[in-house]
Amino acid sequence: MDTQEKKVVHVAMFSGGAGSAYVAYHMVQTYGKENCILFFTNTLWEDEDNYRFMEEVSSHIGLEITERLDGRTPEEVFYDERFLGNARLAKCSEELKVRQTIIFLEEELRNERNLEPILYFGIGPHEKHRAENLKDFYAHFPLEPIETRFPLIELFREDLDAKGIIRDEWGIELPRMYNIAEQLADEGNENARIAVRNGIKGFSHANCAGRCVRGGYQHYALLYAIWPERYREQEDMEERFRAKLQKDVSILKKNGGSYTMKQFREVMEAEGFEKFLFKADADIPCVCSFS
Ligand code: SF4
Repeated sequence: MDTQEKKVVHVAMFSGGAGSAYVAYHMVQTYGKENCILFFTNTLWEDEDNYRFMEEVSSHIGLEITERLDGRTPEEVFYDERFLGNARLAKCSEELKVRQTIIFLEEELRNERNLEPILYFGIGPHEKHRAENLKDFYAHFPLEPIETRFPLIELFREDLDAKGIIRDEWGIELPRMYNIAEQLADEGNENARIAVRNGIKGFSHANCAGRCVRGGYQHYALLYAIWPERYREQEDMEERFRAKLQKDVSILKKNGGSYTMKQFREVMEAEGFEKFLFKADADIPCVCSFS
């Protein structure tokens, strides 16, 4: 393939995060919206407030969202793969995010429209290792390497406050996933107040409405504390999967073995959820936060 002959198109990988929103804005300012795409892959498990945020950002920067979806939920992927996603291996991410992205880049942009994509990610300086992983992935995984750019690392000063700019200058509220504990605490929710007292404002990423199978104890303790009905949905999903496949598998792990959402809930009911809020989960690179 001769990339010289192809017109370049700038593609912001729009996740519903503040970083990716700011990077998309900067990309459009630099290259013009006629040369840009705001790209979103939908897992169908997203929190409704993420859609509100994305729509508001899209109208602020004057570029429509290009959405692609597989059509399955993460749960449906787990059945198809006969494997329940967990922190080590999440096929939902591969199928619903990565695969949809590669199909879009290779088939739609390169083959059908004769365009050469350059990808933009909203990863900040504190997550440089994730940028390296993505750079490496897009250099090797597509048929031909795809250029990746990380403006928050490469272009801006370290302390650029994307969240503050979006909230205060653009007048757009951030997705509630980031500060849901604070919001609920203000509304008088006692568990949310406990979380806030422990320094937790909300979820560390906005994807899949707090049900991310890559989450650990802290993540699920917060979900149990502030959104027990969503915790229950996840618990029920896990129980259905275990029963149908007759396998002792689980999203969480303990001592290398399975540890079900039900077991974890029973421990939290008996001993309280607070102690699980103190210990931050291992930092697992989740491509869903950026793509
Ligand atoms: S955010 Fe988590 S649950 Fe959702 S698709 Fe990605 S890895 Fe799967």
